[in-house]
Amino acid sequence: MDDCVFCKIINKEIPAKPVFEDEDLIVINDIDPKAPVHMLIMPKKHIANLDALTEEDSSIVSKILMAAQRLAKEKNIMARYKIVTNVGEIAGQTVMHMHFHMLGGWKSNSEVTTQLKQQL
Ligand code: AMP
Ligand code: ZN
Repeated sequence: MDDCVFCKIINKEIPAKPVFEDEDLIVINDIDPKAPVHMLIMPKKHIANLDALTEEDSSIVSKILMAAQRLAKEKNIMARYKIVTNVGEIAGQTVMHMHFHMLGGWKSNSEVTTQLKQQL
């Protein structure tokens, strides 16, 4: 897709440092993070959103979720993340190339307290 920012990143027309990349998927850090860890996991193939996904391409979703599980281990955020995909402008989708937000890395109140005590 010519005017798709994520296709431009995938095709290396816009420089980016992918967190992970294989033949089907790319993972990048969100430019405007909404959590301590905020990555975008997406197929390399241009698919507008979940509404446009066909049965033929549906295996990409399990690949995306398994990549998320792997990244949670690598980034040490297991049991503290969520996966969100916006479908359509009304739901907040601003880039019309299907992507799954992986948001996480928050600390519990007791972890923050422990950390603060260590700094005293
Ligand atoms: P959505 O609103 O669900 O379509 O999410 C689009 C996300 O892409 C937003 O969180 C943006 O901050 C992010 N974004 C837009 N352009 C870039 C970019 N060039 N590199 C990384 N993230 C981007
Ligand atoms: Zn695209």
